[in-house]
Amino acid sequence: MQSCQIEGLHITPRKKGADKYIKISYPFRYGVYSEIKSKSYTFGFNLNGEIKTIQGRGEGWLDAAEWLKRNAGNDWIYFSAGGYTGAYDFTGEYYVPCLSYNSNGIFGPDRFKSPEVAAAFDAWDELRSQLNIINISGMPHQIGDFIDRVKKMTPEKLESRASLLHDIIGGQVSVLPPDTRHVEYDVIPVTISDGCLYNCGFCRVKTGKRFKLRERSNITNQIHALKKLYHKDVVNYNSVFLGQHDALFAGAELIEFAARQSYEILGLDKSTIKGPKLFLFGSVDSLLRGEDDLFERINKLPYETFINIGLESADPETLAVIQKPLTSKKVAQAFNKLMAINQRYARIEISANFLYGADLPETHLPSILELTRNRLDHFHSKGTIYLSPLENIGSKQAFVDQFTEFKTLCRLPVYIYLIQRL
Ligand code: SF4
Repeated sequence: MQSCQIEGLHITPRKKGADKYIKISYPFRYGVYSEIKSKSYTFGFNLNGEIKTIQGRGEGWLDAAEWLKRNAGNDWIYFSAGGYTGAYDFTGEYYVPCLSYNSNGIFGPDRFKSPEVAAAFDAWDELRSQLNIINISGMPHQIGDFIDRVKKMTPEKLESRASLLHDIIGGQVSVLPPDTRHVEYDVIPVTISDGCLYNCGFCRVKTGKRFKLRERSNITNQIHALKKLYHKDVVNYNSVFLGQHDALFAGAELIEFAARQSYEILGLDKSTIKGPKLFLFGSVDSLLRGEDDLFERINKLPYETFINIGLESADPETLAVIQKPLTSKKVAQAFNKLMAINQRYARIEISANFLYGADLPETHLPSILELTRNRLDHFHSKGTIYLSPLENIGSKQAFVDQFTEFKTLCRLPVYIYLIQRL
């Protein structure tokens, strides 16, 4: 049974999307999923029957290339095309994920306030009501089972599943590494340590807890519980995020243990999407402390690994203003080390974050260019620099102009870090 037509709905219980993540300038679906098309909308579902995407069609929708996506934390995200060329220059993707809870106003109006998005959520309510009265007896069992799964995933159930996810890992992931854009932010989170080293004054995502490792048994229990929670849809994941804010400081033994356990227990070798990826955050100190053995072992994992380091600034005055307890000398050492690791290990990319804010000292941006331009003699494709906007970025035009100039001068790829939680 491929699909069927019932009361104006075109229902396809099983569709195959792409089997690897690609950068492409039109909306794309990955893995195996289900779909219901009504007159004006296409609703996508994961293999558990949970709503995953809503895309409008024709009049009454904002843009044929834009869609709404729900994540495992039960947040809806609006994927805006943002003008495809412009979007790619700013984010490295052909879309700009805009969150309902975050004022990512750089890329335009808050889509969640638009009547079109409100209408899409109304259409989703209507679809559920319609499915509730459809008589599934006598239908081909694949269709009936699928409708049944969708009906069971009520809004309350979706919310409780998100709460369960947060209970398993010990709280919401307040921010995902920017590199998770490579897998459209679809990662399974596993917490291997809590807290962070610095508790910087400027930071809005910190827990305030001191750094603490999780026990191996805790990590294994989390992975088993996550496998049960993600259930049938676990096959549509190929990536793991090792949390929280400084998993690199956990050291080689625990990182390797958690990465390999995740790979085996979650069955990532059988994922519908090829090319497993591992994401984690690190800090200046965890990077500087990391010996060759750490990176040798990460490089041999069955993943391509992305480590994101918060450097924030290489300017002493800015570091003092943002209350980051680091010296500019240490930041420069960390930058040199990440460049060396990127060149040495084929399966590791270390990226770096720097802050952007209208209130930061004038010496801030030049201090970053001193590292990312003056000290490099040619362009390097590995070692992405993310500019992380603070609350006050000043005028949008000034930001765009400065970003464009910075990007032109920098000898590394440069994108904007958009906060995504899970
Ligand atoms: S920037 Fe990183 S190290 Fe500093 S408080 Fe935030 S999470 Fe912790």
